[in-house]
Amino acid sequence: MSDKSAARQPDVIVVGAGVVGTSTARELAHAGARVLLIDRDQAPGAGSRAAAGVGVPSVRLLQDPPMLAFALRGQQTLAKDLHRLATPERPLSGACGVLRPVADQAAADRLAALAAEHPGFLGSWVSPDEVAALEPTMRKAAHGAYVDPGATVVDAPAYVEALVAEARRAGVTVRTDCPLLSLRSDDRGVTAELPDGPVRADTLVLAAGAWSGALPGLPALPVRPVRGQMLRLAPESADQRPRHIVSGPLYLAPAPDGRTVLVGATEEDTGFTPGPTVEGTLMLLAHVARNWPALRTARVVDTWYGFRATTEDGRPLIGGLPGHPRVVVATGHGGQGILTGSHTGELVAALVAGEQPGELVHFDPARTAS
Ligand SMILES: Cc1cc2nc3c(=O)[nH]c(=O)nc-3n(C[C@H](O)[C@H](O)[C@H](O)COP(=O)(O)OP(=O)(O)OC[C@H]3O[C@@H](n4cnc5c(N)ncnc54)[C@H](O)[C@@H]3O)c2cc1C
Repeated sequence: MSDKSAARQPDVIVVGAGVVGTSTARELAHAGARVLLIDRDQAPGAGSRAAAGVGVPSVRLLQDPPMLAFALRGQQTLAKDLHRLATPERPLSGACGVLRPVADQAAADRLAALAAEHPGFLGSWVSPDEVAALEPTMRKAAHGAYVDPGATVVDAPAYVEALVAEARRAGVTVRTDCPLLSLRSDDRGVTAELPDGPVRADTLVLAAGAWSGALPGLPALPVRPVRGQMLRLAPESADQRPRHIVSGPLYLAPAPDGRTVLVGATEEDTGFTPGPTVEGTLMLLAHVARNWPALRTARVVDTWYGFRATTEDGRPLIGGLPGHPRVVVATGHGGQGILTGSHTGELVAALVAGEQPGELVHFDPARTAS
């Protein structure tokens, strides 16, 4: 073991301590690298901490098989993380299943046709009466729903904390309040300018979430922020909580704390404009009031917002940065980064070690070069 310090002479600098960057740093350290993980903010993982933590692939991914395969692998890696990192005091997630109501027969048929290649993905079909038995406080589903009992909701802030602690135990040096100010890169390595001076490393991994599009010293990446607003409700009694993640464009989920309800999330192309806003909160509250009459008396105990890193084709950017042989990009995870962040960490660590994971052909940042 070299006596060089990871803080001053790391092998790899990882920029961004969300689920993606922290998982990457952990995997690299497990592979023997000296790793410096930096985050601009005091609390690492700005996007990750804002997430609802729905730990199941979105049905939207049925239209993009490589993304669905990626998300399903992510789900497995996430399950291993949660199993390893949870403690009785901090369970990190709650198992609850997912219910996907459909409005009419045409929508049900469309969904079933899309899922035909993935038997079991949607779970089983249930009639409106069965939906009412599964979710007694929800307004009766007009047509029916698919129900999959195998989904979990992750306590996203607690998961980030547990990942950071694990990365530290693996030997990663974690620095918060430490923005990347500028970067020079050449064929042999990178020099990152940090608030207390330059740090040289062999490789830099850019995992700065929604902020990855415009980092100093790097070419602009086609990643844009999409704001998401969320609510937390405390119902008058526990039996008013949904029992499943009830998904749709907007969703409700029983929070892993066993008491509250998560309501999310808006999708707004408003740049980095902060929230929450009256309009966003109203949209979420109207969804609750319309579909969950018993929750009209629930208290709103929290509202917050975050930024998803979104790409034009909906796929993340994972791989070498064209023109910068020592920079690897890992961003653009949209609304699925809690689910897929840890798997991304495995892929990036393999890439830095000189392997070429086949899956990455679908996520090559070079596809956006034009
Ligand atoms: C409202 C909302 C709900 C969501 N719900 C879900 C969900 O249910 N399930 C799911 O799977 N995903 C969900 N997501 C998406 C998920 O949160 C993201 O995909 C994921 O957190 C991205 O992780 P990341 O590590 O790429 O980015 P982040 O967690 O944002 O981490 C990037 C970090 O980089 C840091 N940084 C930026 N610039 C610099 C710099 N110059 N120097 C140093 N550090 C820098 C930032 O401070 C930040 O902490 C949701 C997102 C939002 C906003």
